[in-house]
Amino acid sequence: MKITDLKCAVIGGSPVVRVITDEGLDGYGQAETPKAYLKPHVLFYKDYIVGADPTNVESIMLRIRRAGSFKPWGSAVSAIEIALWDLAGKAAGVPVYKLLGGKVRDQVRVYNGGVRFAMKGTSPQDYADDVAKMKASPEGFTIVKEGVGFHSAMLRNTPSFSYGDVVGGSFHPNRGPLTERGLKHVIACVEAMKSVLGDEIGLALDCGPGWTVPDAIRLAKAVEPLNVMWLEDLITGDYVPYTLADVYREVTLKTTTPIHTGEQVYLRQNFKELIEKHAVNILGPDPEDVGGIAELKWIAEYADLHGILIAPHGIFDGLIGMAAHVMVAATMPANYIAFECPIGNPSWWYDIVDGVANPFIKNGMIQVWDRPGLGVTLNPGKAEKYLREEDKGFFD
Ligand SMILES: [Mg+2]
Repeated sequence: MKITDLKCAVIGGSPVVRVITDEGLDGYGQAETPKAYLKPHVLFYKDYIVGADPTNVESIMLRIRRAGSFKPWGSAVSAIEIALWDLAGKAAGVPVYKLLGGKVRDQVRVYNGGVRFAMKGTSPQDYADDVAKMKASPEGFTIVKEGVGFHSAMLRNTPSFSYGDVVGGSFHPNRGPLTERGLKHVIACVEAMKSVLGDEIGLALDCGPGWTVPDAIRLAKAVEPLNVMWLEDLITGDYVPYTLADVYREVTLKTTTPIHTGEQVYLRQNFKELIEKHAVNILGPDPEDVGGIAELKWIAEYADLHGILIAPHGIFDGLIGMAAHVMVAATMPANYIAFECPIGNPSWWYDIVDGVANPFIKNGMIQVWDRPGLGVTLNPGKAEKYLREEDKGFFD
C-alpha cells in the first residue's frame, strides 16, 4: 500500500487531515480547533510522505518529525501521525490501541475540558457556581479543571491583582509578581470551588503561564490542605517555546501540591529534562501538539520510570482527536490519571462523525471501543455541506 495524497480541510475551524492510499483506504487526523491557519503547513509535508507505505508509521515520522516545533508548529506533524495510525489500524483490521502495545484498561478516565459555561465574573461565588454546573453535568466527571490567576480574567477583573502591567492579546501574555490581594483572591476562589466539589470530584487548576517562583510556591503551599489534583503551567505553558525545567523544579520540591506542565511541548526530547530532573509531578502533553500518539505513549512510559504522572491536554482536539486520546490512553501505564476531554463543538460534529454517541462520557469515563483504526471517522455524505468552497475536493 502506498500513500497517493495528503489533504487538509478546515471544518468548523478545525484542520482535518486525510491521508489517501492506492488501495482505497484513508486515514483521518485532526488539529486543535482554533488553528485554521495550519492548512498550508499540513500540505508542506505532502511531498515527504507520498509514495510511502503508511503502515510503516515510524519510517514516515523519521521523514517529517524533525520539521516541526513547539505549539502550534508541531500540530501538522501530529495530525498526520494520527492519520497514519488510523490507516495502519484499518489496514490490519484492528483498533489502534493494538498497534501501540495493546490495552491495559477497558475504559479511560477523562477530566472536564470541553463542557464549559459562561461565567459572570471571577469572584469566588462565580467559580463556585461554575463548578456546581460541571458537577451536575450528565457526563459525571470525577475531575474538573478551572483557569485561575494568569490563565483567567482575574487579572482584568480584580483591582490591584498584580504589580505588573496588564497586556492584551492572545495566548496568556501576562506575567509578573502578584499583590497580596491578588494571591488571596486566587486562594479564596480555590476554597470556594472545593466547598462545592468536596472530596467527590477532583479539582485541577490551570494557572498561567507567568507566575514568579515565590508566588508559585506561596500558592502551592497555601492550597496544600485542599488536595487539588494539580497546578498547571505556573511558570511556562501555552505557546511558550521552552520548558524551564530548573525553575519548575524549584517550585515542585517545595510543596506537596502536584505541579503539572507540558501541553505546548513538542517531541519526547523536550520532555527529557523535565522528567530526568523530576521538575514536575505530572505531565500533560497534547497528542495534537507533541508529535502524535506514539510520541505521547513513549513520554508516558518514560515518565512512569521516574515516578511522574500523566494527564494529557486535549480541550480543543475535536472528536477525531478524542478518539486518538482514547486509543493511546488505553495503553498507558498506571501513571495515567485522565485526559482533558474535548466535546463536539458545534454540536453538528456528532452528525458528521461516525462512531461517537452524544454524550459519550459516562461516570467520567469512556469505554474503549474495538473498531478498526481510530474507530471514529468522518462521514463524507454528511460532512460535505460543512466544507469551505476551497476544500470542496476533500473527499474526492
Ligand atoms: Mg493548560
